[in-house]
Amino acid sequence: MNPTIRPLSADERRMLAAARLVAVESAPYLAHALFSVRPLAAVGLATFAVDRSWRLYVDPATLAEWGPQVAGAVLVHEACHLIRDHAGRADSLPGPVDHDRWNLATDAAINDDLIRAGLPLPEWVVTPDSLGLPDAGIEESYYAAIAPQPPQTDVGCGSGAGDPRQPWEPSPGDAQMPGLDEGQVTITRRKVAHDIRDTVATGRGTVPAGMARWASKELAPATVPWRKVLAGMVRRAAALTAGRITYTYTRPGRRRLPRIVTPAMRAPRVTVAVVIDTSGSMTRADLDTALAEVSGVIKAVGGTVQVIVCDAHAERARTVRNARDVKLIGGGGTDMRVGIEAAEALNPAPNVIVVLTDGDTPWPSAPTRARLIAVLTRDRGMSRLPTWARGIHVPV
Ligand SMILES: [Zn+2]
Repeated sequence: MNPTIRPLSADERRMLAAARLVAVESAPYLAHALFSVRPLAAVGLATFAVDRSWRLYVDPATLAEWGPQVAGAVLVHEACHLIRDHAGRADSLPGPVDHDRWNLATDAAINDDLIRAGLPLPEWVVTPDSLGLPDAGIEESYYAAIAPQPPQTDVGCGSGAGDPRQPWEPSPGDAQMPGLDEGQVTITRRKVAHDIRDTVATGRGTVPAGMARWASKELAPATVPWRKVLAGMVRRAAALTAGRITYTYTRPGRRRLPRIVTPAMRAPRVTVAVVIDTSGSMTRADLDTALAEVSGVIKAVGGTVQVIVCDAHAERARTVRNARDVKLIGGGGTDMRVGIEAAEALNPAPNVIVVLTDGDTPWPSAPTRARLIAVLTRDRGMSRLPTWARGIHVPV
């Protein structure tokens, strides 16, 4: 029988808030995720589940029965499914997906971490041990090691954990019960990854090994060697500017760190504007790649960059010091010309415009004043790029 989906009552919201408090206390690094999910009542579901748009389905009877301690631990479990992108990873499994097997594999990987972190999960939960698997494995290897499962009738952890979309889920764009869009999901996931990295780096609190491993993978460095690419751009620009040297590495004063800071270690002096494609065709993986490259550009210039997010419409440019401050708004059609035009109109005008896109866009017909670098997540977009622009393919 399908559960009935409705908003939570005030009483239910209070119960859930108590459980979330327990969840945040036991896994503070998941706070951004725990506060981003969109909770709904799922009467008759008999458990908790999540969907691909980060809606959290809570059976009010189960919530009352479990109490805040267990419900809090299960909230952490559900947040882990979302954070570790078990839905997206299910799509990448070879062959037709055995959903029950994937559910066991992901549950085992999550619970292994959480039990070691001391969370009071219900006793019946799946663990690597209960499946005869080694500890501390990753989801995909557990999946490969588990025998094919007979189809089950009970729900797993929902489409947000890699199950098929349930007939009772509101549609992704439901106006009454909205979920998160791809951009919000990407940003939340990266915020959590940063929080995990900070927790690990400062030693303030413990992070389960699996989560730490996930975060370092999530925050993988940029693929493009931006320092080198931008320095090359600046040199070329200098060669074109007759009689004026614009290529400078500022030399540190003699008294400051002699022989430690070499010119090569300093950032090329270049003003960069970044245009990020946030159209509907950009997947979470594309957006993740784009943000990793934004981080790389910021690091290379050693300061800030102007970021314009753009689908068929360009948002206002924002000065960004950290990729986590980028707001990925969009989801419509694609026209990077609009974003490039907005970048050219900036004051001061950028020397270099970096466009991060899957390549499925029209390009300006005439060369831009600034040097244009297009970072494409899809190889096929390269052929559409004008000859005067520089194209770099970064596979996702
Ligand atoms: Zn689960």
